[in-house]
Amino acid sequence: MKTIIEPFRVKSVEPIRFTTIGERTRIIREASYNPFLIRAEDVLIDLLTDSGTSAMSSAQWAAMMQGDESYAGSSSFFRFEASVKRITGMPQVIPTHQGRAAERILFSILGGKGKSVLSNTLFDTTRANIEWSGAEGLDLICEEGKDPALVAPFKGNISITALDERIRELGAPRIPVCILTVTNNSGGGQPVSMANIRQASSVCRSHGIPLFIDACRFAENAYFIKLREEGYQDRPMLEIVREMFSYADGCTMSAKKDAFANIGGFLALRDEALSLECRNLLIMTEGFPTYGGLAGRDLEAVAVGLGEALDEDYLKYRIRSIEYVGERLIAAGVPIVRPTGGHAVYLDAKAFLPGIPPDQYPGVALCSELYIRGGIRAVEIGSLMFGKYDSSGKLVSPPMELVRLAMPRRVYTQSHMDYVTETILETFDHRDTIRGFRIGHEEAVLRHFTARLIPVQELK
Ligand SMILES: *Cc1c(COP(=O)(O)O)cnc(C)c1O
Repeated sequence: MKTIIEPFRVKSVEPIRFTTIGERTRIIREASYNPFLIRAEDVLIDLLTDSGTSAMSSAQWAAMMQGDESYAGSSSFFRFEASVKRITGMPQVIPTHQGRAAERILFSILGGKGKSVLSNTLFDTTRANIEWSGAEGLDLICEEGKDPALVAPFKGNISITALDERIRELGAPRIPVCILTVTNNSGGGQPVSMANIRQASSVCRSHGIPLFIDACRFAENAYFIKLREEGYQDRPMLEIVREMFSYADGCTMSAKKDAFANIGGFLALRDEALSLECRNLLIMTEGFPTYGGLAGRDLEAVAVGLGEALDEDYLKYRIRSIEYVGERLIAAGVPIVRPTGGHAVYLDAKAFLPGIPPDQYPGVALCSELYIRGGIRAVEIGSLMFGKYDSSGKLVSPPMELVRLAMPRRVYTQSHMDYVTETILETFDHRDTIRGFRIGHEEAVLRHFTARLIPVQELK
């Protein structure tokens, strides 16, 4: 077996700035130990997110020059619409400036007090938009998905039993929509199987509940189906993707993920009446329905990117480069979510730092150590991102404390991945010296973006 190489050559480069451990110790303190508050130029390898950070292809840049910036009816919109229809098969295509704008529009209409939205696992902005509308969001992840160390092919699946039970318990009229996140971002980037999408769809349809797909990583999910699910090995990517969407009534999409765009998203659906309501809200806050808050050139980048996302040589390299980091970490005994998912390596911070309890934010502690040691920026997905307080003010933690190292698409090479691995291994060797954190300041919604943290030992 030869090395699986990056399926592109480099045409334009962006220098990265080197810093010392001393500088980084100061920088992260000044950023209140919140990686979102560090300046990008102070980061060596930026794995904060795979969102909007992709390297665009020469074809995407070329298409951008053809951007038609007409306010209404721009030809860029029609190329965008055709590309979205080709992938999703949905007749109603509504551009938005990013995924959360599609979510806000959808849940402003479908959400509201007393309603419950069911999901495998809701992404943070999705949950926030549902809760903002007054509705509640319920995660019904399958059993395998709850154990980070368990190796199973489709740990992103929704529990069909739980879905059925919840619908019976709450009653279908209280459930305006069920949404499947593919791949399951907050649940470890794990894929959802075709069988699971099909079953969820049939349960929802039997109760008259629409099924939506949070489609940010539809191509990565489809590639896992091709690799792991019986009967899909010889099917073309486009067919697999089309089948996935065929079970859904609509989807929200952040084009900043699998579509390699730096900005953009959409809402696509089948129901014409609902799409009219959505467009009315779109006009009020995003823009006219043929641009939805995007420039014509952005629509072009998405239109081309959606097609490139289905290239199998690319997907093979993409999935392999993440698996490659995972293999080396597993071999050294570093606890990670297994198997590795589609867009990120997730460190299990609870097992990595067993001495730090959830209310001292082990994920935050691990992120700050990775930054200090290697200039790597990662993100906590645990008690800081998803923690809630009960009526007595006590922190209620989510089941897992993870640190996500998200890989921007087509940006870093194998030697960058080697460096990341080496930094994690060095951190693992020194894990006994790492201390926890307390929150110094927080906001009521999406607190992880702005929270300020204080090292526990400084409090004493
Ligand atoms: C990124 C993301 C979103 C939100 O999209 P934005 O473009 O960041 O607004 C929603 N769901 C999932 C699963 C995501 O990864």
